[in-house]
Amino acid sequence: MHALNLPAPAGKPRIVVIGGGFAGLNFVHKLDTDRYQVVLLDRHNYHTFAPLLYQVATAGLEAPDICGPLRKSFRGKRDFHFRMLQVYGIDPIRREVSTGAGAIQYDHLVLATGTRANFFGNTNIEAHSLPLKTVPDARNLRNHIFQTLERADLTDDPVERARLMTFIIVGGGPSGVELAGALSELRRHVLVHDYPDTPMEQLRFILVEGGDQLLAAFSDKSSEDARRNLHDMDIELRFGLLMTDYDGRVATFKDGTTIASSTVIWGAGVTGEVIQGLKSESISRAHYVIDAHMRVQGYENIYALGDVAYLSNEEWPQGHPGVAQVAIQMGKRLAGNFNALVRGKETKPFKYFDKGNLAIIGRNRAVADLPKGLHFNGIPAWFVWAFVHIFYLIGFRNRLFTFLSWVGNYITYNRAVRLVLEPTLEEELRGERGGIR
Ligand SMILES: Cc1cc2nc3c(=O)[nH]c(=O)nc-3n(C[C@H](O)[C@H](O)[C@H](O)COP(=O)(O)OP(=O)(O)OC[C@H]3O[C@@H](n4cnc5c(N)ncnc54)[C@H](O)[C@@H]3O)c2cc1C
Repeated sequence: MHALNLPAPAGKPRIVVIGGGFAGLNFVHKLDTDRYQVVLLDRHNYHTFAPLLYQVATAGLEAPDICGPLRKSFRGKRDFHFRMLQVYGIDPIRREVSTGAGAIQYDHLVLATGTRANFFGNTNIEAHSLPLKTVPDARNLRNHIFQTLERADLTDDPVERARLMTFIIVGGGPSGVELAGALSELRRHVLVHDYPDTPMEQLRFILVEGGDQLLAAFSDKSSEDARRNLHDMDIELRFGLLMTDYDGRVATFKDGTTIASSTVIWGAGVTGEVIQGLKSESISRAHYVIDAHMRVQGYENIYALGDVAYLSNEEWPQGHPGVAQVAIQMGKRLAGNFNALVRGKETKPFKYFDKGNLAIIGRNRAVADLPKGLHFNGIPAWFVWAFVHIFYLIGFRNRLFTFLSWVGNYITYNRAVRLVLEPTLEEELRGERGGIR
């Protein structure tokens, strides 16, 4: 394979980072590039602030509000090189990664590839349901929601209309809960006014959870608050239900229950974005097994960070949670260690500082679990949530515009971004494109 166009590292070690998510971004920010050359590879040319994807999917925010262009983030950083590429393989003997545009040599490799939706091998569900992991997913979901409602407004067949107006959300974790809450508010403040000829009482949002509670990783109080709030917001909650099949028209569950629906939003699990090429003993359940210095088991110069890494210790025997704070702190720690190494200083093991969990359920409704068992909900939790999410957004433009959009939405109860951009309904009806069944 031919090599890719990149400047030679000029006597410095070259660190190749795969993934410009929370982990990769924070690693590169903190790395001393006077002493290392850094090459960042990502299949997208932007960083995604995933906690706000549900806002894009429910017409609250535009995609650019929650994305930061990677090249801009590192403008002016010495010896930083970005390439928009999908990485397909790692060759640890030759010390190179393979991409569609050629091979790239590394001295050190940092894997920060995150996760993707896990359909547990169910190809039917994968083919017909809608995940919410990326910006294209969120835009696709938003288009689908509004297309489906337009379609429901066209039909006079009550059975077909009921199917079109039934939305199933699978998974009662933070993204399922946040999405369900946002859909309920969309129904209450926007859809009932936008679709006066459609019987909106038929619009159902069903949240299906395989276990017996929502927000299983949160405190019991938060789980219960989330359940109560969603119930009050007319979200139908079904516990202990496992989806086994979905053909785009009917969802089937393990206990034999079926629900006719043209929308299944899949948030039931994720799996690590593992790239082929490393020894099988370095990988456990689709995650790279790392030590406290974030080195992948069996390799001296390969590291893994964030959601794709599995680090188990006394405090976290089942591994660390797949949340942004773990990824951010791992990225900073590893860069700090690289910087220490070139100065002959000691490196430090990773220790996670758990700042707590937050989830928003709706306007003035949120839950927060803070350190030392502190729990609160309602308006105070909502303000903490809003502040934290604005604070961690990348770039001034995003913070300002997102803040203004929220204030606007808050005051007017409006959702500005409810345009169906593609594919057009006419094309759908002519059957020229995939989509709604
Ligand atoms: C809908 C949703 C809501 C969430 N809400 C919260 C929340 O409220 N709070 C919270 O703490 N966490 C939340 N999370 C989890 C949080 O987003 C993750 O923990 C965090 O993104 C992990 O960071 P990461 O850097 O490990 O991976 P990611 O942020 O996923 O970044 C991985 C990057 O790698 C790139 N990549 C992957 N494979 C390749 C490849 N082969 N070649 C090139 N590039 C590649 C991807 O394009 C991506 O940019 C949420 C996640 C989702 C999906």
